[in-house]
Amino acid sequence: MSQRLRWGLVGGGEGSQIGDAHRIAARIDGLIDLSAAALDIDPERGRAYARDLGVAPDRAYGTWQEMLEGERSRPDRIELVTVATPNATHFEIANEFLRNGFHVFCEKPLTMTVEDANALLKTAEANDRLLAVNFGYSGYPMVREARAMVARGDLGRIRLAVAEFAHGFHADAADADNPRVRWRYDPNQAGVSSVVADCGIHAMHMIGFVTGQHLEAVSAHFASLVGDRILEDDAALNLRYSSGTLGRLWTSAVAVGQMHGLNFRIFGEKGGLSWHQEAPNQLFWTPLSQPTVVIERGHPEASDAARDATRITIGHTEGMLVAFANLYRDLHRAISAGEQGERDLALSLLPMGAAGAEMVAAVDAAARSTKDNGAWVELPKTSL
Ligand code: NAD
Repeated sequence: MSQRLRWGLVGGGEGSQIGDAHRIAARIDGLIDLSAAALDIDPERGRAYARDLGVAPDRAYGTWQEMLEGERSRPDRIELVTVATPNATHFEIANEFLRNGFHVFCEKPLTMTVEDANALLKTAEANDRLLAVNFGYSGYPMVREARAMVARGDLGRIRLAVAEFAHGFHADAADADNPRVRWRYDPNQAGVSSVVADCGIHAMHMIGFVTGQHLEAVSAHFASLVGDRILEDDAALNLRYSSGTLGRLWTSAVAVGQMHGLNFRIFGEKGGLSWHQEAPNQLFWTPLSQPTVVIERGHPEASDAARDATRITIGHTEGMLVAFANLYRDLHRAISAGEQGERDLALSLLPMGAAGAEMVAAVDAAARSTKDNGAWVELPKTSL
C-alpha cells in the first residue's frame, strides 16, 4: 500500500447529516485521499458534488454499483470504502465491496438484522478484509483515557455502568409528517427500532468500549410518546455484561432541551468516572472516599492511548471531527500494518465488525424484550 490511503465514499452527499464529518475527519492527518465517490441516491447530484469536491471526473460515480465496477479493475483502485448511506442499504453495499477485496468502514447500525451482521463478518473474514464500524465517539481522547483507567484496574471491579444518549429533536408533534423524521419511526424503513438503533447504540457501545466487556443480556422498555409513532422515541434498558457488571441506559428523541445528550458514568469498587460528550475535554474521576479530580485532555500524565489521540495542546477544543479523525488514522495504521503482515495496536481501539454485530444483536434483543414485557433476552453467542 502506498503511504497515502486511497479512499472511496458511498453516501454522505451534499446536505446529508454525516457526510461532511467523514470527509473532514478522513483528511485531517493528510494520510487519506478521497479518490472515488458515489455520494447520492440521485446519480447526477452525486457525480456533480464529487467533482466539486475534487474527485476526478471518471471516478465521480453515479451509483455504488458503478463505483464497484469502475474501481475493481483499476491498478490504483481505492483501498478503503466508507458506507454512509441509510441503514437499510449498509449490508448490500458493504458485502459487495468486501467480496471484491476492499476494506470497509461502515456507519452504524452495521446492518438491520442479526443474520446480516453475522453474514458480513463472515464475508470480511473469508476475504481477509478489515470491517470497522463508525462508533466515532470512541475516538475522543478522554474516552480512551477512561478505557485505559479501567483496564489498568484504577476502578477495581466494575459494578455499574450508566449511559445516556437522549436528545430532544423529534419532540414536535407537528413534525409527524416531515419526511426526514417520519421514516425513522416506520418499521418498514427503520426495522425493529428507532431511537435505540440510532442513538442508544452509541451509548451501549461506549459502555462496552470503556469497560472492555461484552453484552450478554438486555431487558428493555420502549415507549412511543409523540403522536401515533409505531417505533419507540424513548427507551430504558437494563444491560448485563460478561463480568457481571450491570448497565443502565436511557435514550430518547423527545428530551426537549437536551442537545446531543451523550454521556457515561462508570462505577467500580475503587472509584467512579464520568464523561459528557458536550464537554469532552474533561474526565471526572472520584477515587473512593476522596474528592473528585478533573483530568484534562492533553495532560502529560494521561495514558498512551489518550495522548496519542490528542492533537493539540491542553485547553483547546478538539471535538467530534478529531474523534472521527482518530478512527480514520487507526484505519490507516491497521491497513498499513496488515499489508506488511503485521497487526497494529490501532486494532485494539478501532470498533470492528464484531462490535457492530454485537450492537445489532443488542438492538434486536431489546426489541424482543419490550414485546415480552421487559423480560431478559440473551444475546446469541455467535454475535460476540
Ligand atoms: P442522510 O439522509 O442525511 O444522508 C444520506 C445520504 O446518503 C444522502 O446524501 C443520500 O443521497 C445518500 N444515499 C442514499 N442512498 C444512497 C445510495 N444507494 N447510494 C449512494 N448514496 C445514497 O443520512 P445521515 O443522517 O447522514 O445518515 C447516514 C448513515 O450515517 C446512517 O446509517 C446513520 O445511522 C449514520 N449516522 C451516524 C452518525 C455517527 O455518529 N456515527 C451520525 C449520523 C448518522
